Parts: sequence; structure tokens; C-alpha cells
Amino acid sequence: MAYQTTNPYTNEVVKTYEDATPEYVEESLAKAQKLYLKWRNDPVSSRIPVLHKLAQIFRDETDSLAKVLTVDMGKLIGEAKGEVILCAMIADYYADHAEELLKPRTIESIAGEAQLENHPLGVMMAVEPWNFPYYQMMRIFAPNFAVGDPIVYKHAAITPASALAFEDAVRRAGAPEGALTNLFLSYDQVSDVVADKRVQGVALTGSERGGVAVAKVAGEHLKKTTMELGGVDAFIVAHDANMTDVKNIAPRARLYNAGQVCTSSKRFIVTENNYDEFLASLKDAFSSVKMGDPMDPSTTLAPMNSKRAKEKLQAQVDEAIAGGATAYYVHEPIDDDGQFFMPTILTNITKDNPAYGKEMFGPVAQVYKVKDDDAAIALANDADYGLGGIVFAGTAEYGAELASRIETGMVFVNTFFSSLPELEFGGVKKSGFGRELGHSGIFSFVNQELVVKRDHPNEDETGGLVLAHKF
Ligand code: NAP
Repeated sequence: MAYQTTNPYTNEVVKTYEDATPEYVEESLAKAQKLYLKWRNDPVSSRIPVLHKLAQIFRDETDSLAKVLTVDMGKLIGEAKGEVILCAMIADYYADHAEELLKPRTIESIAGEAQLENHPLGVMMAVEPWNFPYYQMMRIFAPNFAVGDPIVYKHAAITPASALAFEDAVRRAGAPEGALTNLFLSYDQVSDVVADKRVQGVALTGSERGGVAVAKVAGEHLKKTTMELGGVDAFIVAHDANMTDVKNIAPRARLYNAGQVCTSSKRFIVTENNYDEFLASLKDAFSSVKMGDPMDPSTTLAPMNSKRAKEKLQAQVDEAIAGGATAYYVHEPIDDDGQFFMPTILTNITKDNPAYGKEMFGPVAQVYKVKDDDAAIALANDADYGLGGIVFAGTAEYGAELASRIETGMVFVNTFFSSLPELEFGGVKKSGFGRELGHSGIFSFVNQELVVKRDHPNEDETGGLVLAHKF
């Protein structure tokens, strides 16, 4: 039984779920395809009220929706509520902007009256992770629902209750049958759905491993994909950074969501003039977290999502230390059976260390000392991933100059990293490709159909030469 909620704070197995039967998968794809064929002829405006209603549901039911997240994967209840509200913002954003964004674009051309029309592409398959179970879904659902692409999805095996709660909210918002269907699929079934000829697009958010597996199948069947994968984001402390701001933001950039964020700052790259002060302050912050019941608003560090994840991270830390890294700080053990990982700071990670450039998905900070800002950029870029990043520098302008030199998808200067509906989200290198959110996010699974019209063929000299031979 793969799909199961095990509360990572109490270790209680809350509920297990049956895999989707082949019949249910077929029925779901058939409904989605039928809806796609209808939606091709419906205007975008016909779908907008559902998105506003969905936003309202997320606002009205913030507390109960948040609790589902906390039980499924252990996040702090306050952070869970923040995720629910962000979902409402995303739904409203696309409700407010989709019609304008999807308007046909007129193109000046000698060929005739040309325009690029934005049509739905067809049924989509989404594969989503457990770390932000609703937000990851909303990033895909809101824009593509507006476009008119029905979605079937496979959520993470450990967050089935969140998967169902999202589907239920969409249904209650008035989405037609087939608009969004949760499927508890095995990996083999995911491959079958991706291969199905009704499915035209595949969006995955998850690890490099999951991304490679699904992108491979999608590639074999020539399905368009977006891949939102992992990262080893740099947090650069430039020589002239305001250290008060740095000390305030750095621990939060690592510990939010128990460090299980694709854009968490995983590598702190600190200029040598600030290094000692930085390390001391990070240690202070890491040692003052309060681990405990994630439902208790006074808890500041949640358990990890599962025993398995905790063990994997411990193995990575052990390997790093065996490879020569220094455990500069490890939080003293706590007397609690929840899946807590003791906040850890690693230093002296050399290029040959197994941890160098590896994503550590939990409350572990890698801290690097560099000579100057140029060395900081070089180290930031010495990575296989390029998702986000943070730069603290003396001025916003200088920080932005440094930011532009980082090979990555998103950088925040002199502030914390945030994901908002209007900000494009996505990476480069092994962090994946494609963008979600913002203007770009709505065009990922759109058929940009070019229609050129005129009353008679264009036989003037220029047009004839460019467009076709005359026989
Ligand atoms: P994961 O293991 O790749 O899982 C993500 C999803 O892919 C889950 O639904 C998983 O199903 C599924 N999956 C994995 N392998 C598959 C396969 N071979 N065939 C079909 N489906 C497969 O990732 P995770 O560990 O849950 O999530 C953490 C990772 O996601 C981190 O690397 C993080 O950086 C990344 N992430 C990226 C973003 C972004 O926007 N770039 C956002 C959030 C997280 P099961 O649960 O059943 O294994």
C-alpha cells in the first residue's frame, strides 16, 4: 500500500489508500479528454469564476486545510496556513489576469493579417511533491485551468490526504467533472498515463531522480514537459553586506519548512571579513529553535516529513563528516519521538567531499568561506543546479550586479526568498526547465496557434519569394 499518511510528529499511521484501478484511470482520462474537447470552444472567461471561488474556499477554510498539511507531512501550522493563503492568492491572480494574458497577439507581417491564438494543449499529467502539497498543485492548476487544460495528477505517496483535500476544494469551487482528478498511481502507471495519446503535457516538481525518470518517458513519447527540480541555492554574503539583515534572514532561509524547500539556502557563501561573525550568529539561531508539536504555534522547527527522509539526511551528514567536513554545530538531541533532525552547521567542505554540490533537504547548513565577492560568485556557479539564490550586499544595485552573474533561475537581493503569484518560478541546469507562475507560467501548456488570413493569396514580389515558389 504505497499511499499513506503517517504523522511524522506522532508516528501514527493515520490512513492508507488503495492505488487507482486501471478502470478508474481510464475513466478519468476519458472524462478529462471529453472536457478538453468542450473547453476548446469555451472562452477563458467561462472558467474564471471557479478560480475566484476556489480562492475563497482556501481563505474561508484556512485552518482546516492547514491542519491536513501538518498531519500529512509535519509542517508548522503557521507555515501551513501561509501556504493555504498563498494558494488563494495564486487562484485569484490567474482569475484576474488570465483573460488579458491569453488574448490573441496580432503580428505585423507581409503574409497577411496574422495573429497568435492561445488554445489549450490538451490533458495534462502533473506529478507533485510533498513539501508544499497545495501550493505545488495550485501553481499548475490555476493557470492551466484558465487555459482550458484538464489535469490528472499523481501526488506524493506520503501526502494523500492533502492530494484529496485539494481535489475536493476544486470540485466544490464548481470545476466541471474531469477538470482535475487525483490518481493514486504507481510509477509504472505514471509512465502509462504519460504515454497515453490523450495526454499532451507533463509537469513534474520533485527531485532530479524523479524528474529524470518521468522526463525520459515523456521524451520517448514526445510530450511537452516542465521540470521543477532540486537546488543547492547559494546565500552570498558580500564583503559589504549589512550583517544585521544577514543575521536576521540567514537562519530563516535555511530552517523554513524544516529546511525542506527547493529554494532553501543550502550553501552559505561568506566573504572572509564576515565569516566568523556569520558562523557565530547562525549557531545562535540554530541553537535557539524550539522543536515540538507542529500544531503548537509556539514551535519554531517542525519534524521532517518522514523517518526515511530523516535517515537519508543523517547518512548525507555522516558521509560529509567522514569526507573531512567539520560539524561546526549540531543541536543537542531532544527527547521526542517525532522525526526531528537536529539543526546542523557544516564547514570545511572541500570540492572532493561527497556533500559538495549535493542537495541536503533538511535543517543542515553548509557554510563556505571565500576571499572576496568574485570568489563567492565562482563558488555559487560551481554547481550542477541553478534554481534560486539570495545575495546580501552593501547596496541593492551592487547586489543585483552580483545576482546577474549567478547561473540560476531566481535571485533575491537584500531580502528573503519568496514565491508569489506574479513572480516567475523555475531553474536552469539540473534544477530543470520551464517556468511556473507569473506571465510565463500560463504559457507552458498552451497551443500558440498561428492564424494568418487575407482575402486572396499574396503574389507580390516580396511575399511570393519568401513564402512559396510559383510554378
Ligand atoms: P521526488 O521523490 O522526485 O518526488 C516528487 C514526485 O515525483 C512524487 O509524487 C513522487 O512519487 C514522484 N516520483 C518520483 N519518482 C518517480 C518515478 N520514477 N516515476 C513516477 N513518479 C515519480 O521528490 P521529493 O523528494 O518528494 O521532493 C523533494 C525534491 O523536490 C527536492 O529535490 C526539492 O528541491 C524538489 N522541489 C523542487 C521544486 C521546484 O519548484 N523546483 C519545488 C519543490 C520541491 P512518490 O511520492 O510516490 O515517490
